[in-house]
Amino acid sequence: CGIVGYVGAAPASSSSRPIDLALQGLARLEYRGYDSAGIAVIDESQVCVAKSAGKLQNLREELSGQESSTSRVAIGHTRWATHGAPTDTNAHPHLGGKHDELALVHNGIIENFAPLRAELEADGYAFRSETDSEVAAHLVAREMERAEDLTTAMAGAVARLEGAFTLLAVHRDAPDRVVAARRNSPLVIGLGEGENYLGSDVAAFVDSTREALEVGQDQIVTVTADDVVVSTFAGEVVAEPKRYTIEWDVAA
Ligand code: GLU
Repeated sequence: CGIVGYVGAAPASSSSRPIDLALQGLARLEYRGYDSAGIAVIDESQVCVAKSAGKLQNLREELSGQESSTSRVAIGHTRWATHGAPTDTNAHPHLGGKHDELALVHNGIIENFAPLRAELEADGYAFRSETDSEVAAHLVAREMERAEDLTTAMAGAVARLEGAFTLLAVHRDAPDRVVAARRNSPLVIGLGEGENYLGSDVAAFVDSTREALEVGQDQIVTVTADDVVVSTFAGEVVAEPKRYTIEWDVAA
């Protein structure tokens, strides 16, 4: 339903800024409606996920012990369940990989999740949820085993997916970035100073920046604190992605 992402510069020793900004973005997306919410960050090379069915307040309570996060990245999700009941376990982000090395959020529906799930289970990947989304988490993690970077891993994964998706992934071996992809589902990038944002909707980051960059159909975007690289699913870099300024009246 709603997606947010944030990438900042060097970790401030006792700041929870990425988590706070992701929560703020999720609050901005609440108007869309949702049944669950969650956030993932990377602390001390560990992917950490907090998620909860129900209102954002439940997630805030869950996160109340996390003030000392040093993560440079955060991804967040508000879910409107299509596959699997609205439970804590089915909430996003989903962990991926045999050692929980990745976290991923998904908007949309992955039509061919059933055969992919069977394939990944046969390959030793353990599933926790009933969602269609969890296959994407394991697929990107499996691709990362042999890919040179998270962008290539994402390209390898989306080549296997059918349906509609906006995906955002973070990986413990690439703690300075969020890699995202979209097909038949929206994604915009918010450009900051030494920090960048991702959102399913500009509402996710309009409090922080009005400079935006469009991600086209079947494109992947690699977001670090000071760079945004858009490429096609086939791996070609898009030379001049469209930039624009958000002209939007923000209601309080
Ligand atoms: N199909 C996914 C699920 O049921 C994502 C739903 C959404 O877009 O929120 O978990």
